[in-house]
Amino acid sequence: MTKEEALKTYFGYDEFRGGQREMIDALLDGRDALAIMPTGAGKSLCYQIPALLLPGITLVISPLVSLMRDQVTGLRQMGIPAAFLNSTLTFRQYLLALDRAREGRYKIIYVAPERLETEGFRAFAETAEISLVAVDEAHCISQWGQDFRPSYVKIPAFVESLGRRPPVGAFTATATPEVQEDIARLLALREPLRMTTGFDRENLFFEVQQPQDKRAALLELVRGRPGKCGIVYCSTRKNVEEVCAFLQERGISAARYHAGLEAEERRQSQEDFLYDRVSVMVATNAFGMGIDKSDVRYVVHYNMPKDIESYYQEAGRAGRDGLPSSCILLFSGQDVRTNEYLITHGGAREELDQRTAAALEERDLQRLRQMTAYCRTRRCLRQHILHYFGELAPDRCNVCGNCLNNFEEADIGREAAAIVRCVTETGGHFGVNILAETLCGAETAGVRKYHMDRERTYGLLKDLTQQAVRERIRFLIEENILALSSGPYPVVGLGDGARDRDLSALRMPVLKSEAGRQRAAAPAELEGSAAELFGRLRMLRAKTARMQGVPAYVVFSDKTLRELAVTRPQTMAEFRTVSGVGEVKAGRYGKAFLAEITGFEGF
Ligand code: ADP
Ligand code: MG
Ligand code: ZN
Repeated sequence: MTKEEALKTYFGYDEFRGGQREMIDALLDGRDALAIMPTGAGKSLCYQIPALLLPGITLVISPLVSLMRDQVTGLRQMGIPAAFLNSTLTFRQYLLALDRAREGRYKIIYVAPERLETEGFRAFAETAEISLVAVDEAHCISQWGQDFRPSYVKIPAFVESLGRRPPVGAFTATATPEVQEDIARLLALREPLRMTTGFDRENLFFEVQQPQDKRAALLELVRGRPGKCGIVYCSTRKNVEEVCAFLQERGISAARYHAGLEAEERRQSQEDFLYDRVSVMVATNAFGMGIDKSDVRYVVHYNMPKDIESYYQEAGRAGRDGLPSSCILLFSGQDVRTNEYLITHGGAREELDQRTAAALEERDLQRLRQMTAYCRTRRCLRQHILHYFGELAPDRCNVCGNCLNNFEEADIGREAAAIVRCVTETGGHFGVNILAETLCGAETAGVRKYHMDRERTYGLLKDLTQQAVRERIRFLIEENILALSSGPYPVVGLGDGARDRDLSALRMPVLKSEAGRQRAAAPAELEGSAAELFGRLRMLRAKTARMQGVPAYVVFSDKTLRELAVTRPQTMAEFRTVSGVGEVKAGRYGKAFLAEITGFEGF
């Protein structure tokens, strides 16, 4: 079987996505490989297809014990023999699974990193034919990453201990260079192929809102997407509790998840969400790594995360199936202060020497500033993210909240000149707030303390609100005309671009008046009879999944159901051409779904 045939036969897909072909070829050639691909790009397929084509077993090392069962269920649904070995099995089940593995019954075995050290597993691994080791969520090996797992460090020794060293494939969505280097070095990869794919996720719509009342804004977002599956991320456990209770009191079907809950409640919440028993999951960032649910239609951040890596990873859990989905961040200035506090008072650095700790803190503050800039920018949000990850991107994507026409360009030549003059004449010693108070001619404690009312620029912009002046200052910082220093009390000085820019011609995007604004376009919906048929297919899918005790999305994805509802295949041959329908699923479900479609046409 070729890799193209495997893709069609098992997964029901016609084409590889960017990077998949190269990764698969490298691993099939026996070469190590490191894939840096965003969440939802399709990393799993890069080791699952080699697993099908190689003679022996593929070991997948994954940190997410609680999700292995679903991953294995998904593979078995496609007819791929797979198993998992972790602490959720009883000892007897574990021994049984190992026996079967020895008999060569599985092509893919998921194992938790802690297992690699146990004697029983070592004994098995020494005698088994292991063709490939795939390290999923490979950033867990790095202390620089957010999810450091000490047992990941033991992986290379395990790999070396195998009779013949199989190729190692490492997979992560984390893009920072430090983490990438750590992965290659600590996993002892041998001249790995490095595959970095584009970070753009075209089906995701990005928006930042700065509402007066976050709860009301959230409620509107959730109510505007009835029956759709969404995740609401909060920064603290307390927020999770409150927001979840708030939604539940208003009749929204929501569950909560954070590290402070009993293991049993966490398991239950996660399962309710995966099995579509609740539609909204309110959670801290403890929820989600490896959540492969493909039909999450929106991710709302109730609080701003600490950096763009975290944001993009969490937001990226929306729309894995490629259908239009929204990523909305509810921003407030308080979020910045909370994150600053957490970075400067975070306890986890005690074992580090002072210089390292200071360097890490400065790095985190720098990342936080870039996250904050994302929330405040008026420019294309997608471009902002892609630039952050070092990619080129057009000035406008035309589908993010900022591109969608909520802003219009305004001349700010006069204001820019006044601001730059104020910064120059006061020696670059002041922060954004005092400068705005000064320019607006306010009488505040700060103004009095520093005698700002004696400045020639005092009150020069008193026709504007302080908020408007602050926005203009921030815009000038973004344009490099001004620069913000680092440290706990950042002050505004002149930027590199101050000299050669013609301030009088400067234009800035400003928010349109309420009347002129467009709301974010909702993803295109099915209409008329296609929508009705889609609803019926969903019901059939739910019933099928319930009978087997598996989550609905492992039967067929929303994307597959949509295509069925639109193209309405009439024969088994036509049914097989639909994306996401492989041989085994066609055999198992084809009849029932075809009957539903033909029955519907009879109306
Ligand atoms: P990642 O681990 O990179 O976050 P997954 O491996 O979970 O992403 O894949 C995300 C989704 O994309 C899954 O539903 C998967 O079936 C789908 N997918 C992967 N490769 C392809 C492909 N070549 N064509 C269509 N869908 C794909
Ligand atoms: Mg994955
Ligand atoms: Zn845009």
